[in-house]
Amino acid sequence: MSLASRSAAEWHASAQALRFETRHFIDGDYVDSQDGARFTVVNPATGKPLAEVSAGSAADVDRAVASAKRSFAGRVWRRMAPRDRMAVLAEFARLIEVNAERFALLDTLCMGKPVADMIAVDVPQAARTFSYFAELIDKIDGSVTSTAADAFHYILREPLGVVGCIVPWNYPLLMAAWKVAPALAAGNSVVLKPAEQSPLSGLLMAELFVQAGGPPGVFNAVNGLGETAGAALALHGDVAKIAFTGSTEVGKQMLVYAGRSNMKRVSLECGGKSPQIFLADLPDLDTAVTYAINGIFGNMGEVCNAGSRLLVDRPIAEEFLARFVAKGRSAYRPGDPLDPRTNLGPLVTASHRARVLSFVERGKAEGATLEFGGVAPPLPGCFVEPALFSGVDNGMSIAREEIFGPVAATIVCDGIADALRIANDSMYGLAASVWTRDLNTALSTVRDLEAGVIWVNCFDHGDMTQPFGGYKQSGQGRDKCLESLLSYTQTKSAWIHLG
Ligand code: NAD
Repeated sequence: MSLASRSAAEWHASAQALRFETRHFIDGDYVDSQDGARFTVVNPATGKPLAEVSAGSAADVDRAVASAKRSFAGRVWRRMAPRDRMAVLAEFARLIEVNAERFALLDTLCMGKPVADMIAVDVPQAARTFSYFAELIDKIDGSVTSTAADAFHYILREPLGVVGCIVPWNYPLLMAAWKVAPALAAGNSVVLKPAEQSPLSGLLMAELFVQAGGPPGVFNAVNGLGETAGAALALHGDVAKIAFTGSTEVGKQMLVYAGRSNMKRVSLECGGKSPQIFLADLPDLDTAVTYAINGIFGNMGEVCNAGSRLLVDRPIAEEFLARFVAKGRSAYRPGDPLDPRTNLGPLVTASHRARVLSFVERGKAEGATLEFGGVAPPLPGCFVEPALFSGVDNGMSIAREEIFGPVAATIVCDGIADALRIANDSMYGLAASVWTRDLNTALSTVRDLEAGVIWVNCFDHGDMTQPFGGYKQSGQGRDKCLESLLSYTQTKSAWIHLG
């Protein structure tokens, strides 16, 4: 029976039977922390402990980096014939799909994402990420430049060395794939540090890479807290690049670590406060409202590019709000994330829920109107009812700060110039959308919006060719796409004197 048609009872039975690793994966083997330390992962849907996971210290990170460095120096992976490396990554992609049930359970149990989303989105997209970058491996060319007759000059593209990937908990498998896949495809060795809230799927990934034929030591995974294992990796002198996805605050810290250590490269995919602009001439109001609801309530609002600011043109503002309230109030209902009918799981931790609820209080205190939601339902897990605010001013904290929860803020604007002013008045610039029938307005708005990803008459569409990343304090660097692969390489110029 396909995973998509399983019942809640069947998912619970699979969860009961699930066996998983909790130790680090280094040099092709599972190993415990050198000091034996562990930390507890709690299932946010039940509030009960799920696993005791090895807590990496600087010594464990050092061991993983040494393993990656040895494998890079041994050249087994980077010098493997491109077609052979492609075959390994293609097989790796296949194994991710074969293990869809395990991946789905691991991420759902750790961070509360509905299992249906894991099966429909995270697992297939992670597999596609590996197959996309596998296909690019033998498409990376060097070049020969024009020179005078006494010289021959060519430029090679080479991998960087050891790449540290530090990733968040909101899409544990997929965010890891967005970093690890291009890093490996470019011939680097990798040390992955998953988020401490969702440490388990990264271990299975690293194990499956070896099962797919990847040389041991090329892909290592070390778990632990950000301030210890994450910091040790980002400060390590043998790490050539840190590929980071997470909060803007910690992203800035990565730049400090690089400056304090070996000037390693840093790519940053950080937070957002994405505006969706709904102009009076939009093609279809119902469609727009549906996208607005999904864009902020999907994945519990724990999405970097969540459409958290809804900028609605005054002539349609009242009707837009009425339809959002009518449809959005019941579109996402808190429920058991192992029930495939559930579309809203718990937030990741109790402390994150407290933070989200505190933003709801701040919104009310600052004068916005809470149309619905924003309370904790009487369930044992870390659930929050999706919330909609109207009457929001862009100066309020609910319009300025990344809440990272299902809290929408509607701001009324007067035409496109006003909408652009408000949209760009943010320290973030990850994504944005504009809804209009007018081609000129659409094209000029794409130019004028300060964001790395723009959608017109849709939201959150895209494929692997789409560069994903931010302007301003949403980060630097791009995931997915060819540009991402090249960012895990460096050029070498070879000038040959022909005298
Ligand atoms: P976070 O910044 O708290 O943690 C991210 C990672 O950094 C984790 O692995 C964590 O252990 C590690 N870390 C934390 N503190 C550290 C430190 N002092 N030194 C070294 N490492 C440290 O973020 P989070 O709460 O896990 O994830 C949510 C954030 O991620 C949101 O801001 C969201 O917007 C962002 N995000 C961005 C994208 C994107 O593509 N732009 C995608 C997903 C999530």
